[in-house]
Amino acid sequence: MSAGVTRMIAVGVDLEHSRRVIELAHRFPQVFAGVGHYPTDTPKPDIAALRELAKDDRVVAIGEVGLDFVDTNSPPREVQQERFDPLLALAVELDLPVSIHNRGAADEVEAAIKAHPGLRGSMHYFALEWDWAQRFLEQGFYLSFAGLVTRPSRNALREVVKQCPADRLLLETDSPYGQAHIRMGVPNRPAYLLDTATLVAELRGISLEELADIERANALALFRKMT
Ligand SMILES: [Zn+2]
Repeated sequence: MSAGVTRMIAVGVDLEHSRRVIELAHRFPQVFAGVGHYPTDTPKPDIAALRELAKDDRVVAIGEVGLDFVDTNSPPREVQQERFDPLLALAVELDLPVSIHNRGAADEVEAAIKAHPGLRGSMHYFALEWDWAQRFLEQGFYLSFAGLVTRPSRNALREVVKQCPADRLLLETDSPYGQAHIRMGVPNRPAYLLDTATLVAELRGISLEELADIERANALALFRKMT
């Protein structure tokens, strides 16, 4: 709170963690929950159980869900795709936005989004170049940027930060991962969102306060239950 981060979404990566983030969200008014199933997880998602959890008034998103074709311990691609589909359908059914994890699967993620008309959401930890940014923006998706944008090698990503329409830009920490360059080796935390926010404001030529206003409006527009 002292860092000015007034609301956050804790996302679940399986049923157990989804239950825990809902508990947190009930305990702390600043915390909201996402329920999801991580693509690298071995067991298959229990859609019925996730549906029940997602009806909780503190659950504002279906996430984290997605496709990971890079992690070699992940289930095979076809299995991940078979599992991803009903999770996206659940989001449409419950009119909740999705938070999508994509590693090495941009074509397949794009196709999955297109297969679910009415799906809304955010590309979590966005790390791709502008041509891909445009393709996800065309699907109505938001781009969520993390500490990665502060890393010296990420010039192409900083270009995306500059070009992203103001009404589609989100920030996240992905804590305890996703460290900003100056925090390497330290577990990330929600307060460190400021590292990313400071650079994003600078890149876009606006003040931190203006960026905070944009972020608040965007987060509330997408995660509608987060009021
Ligand atoms: Zn992720």
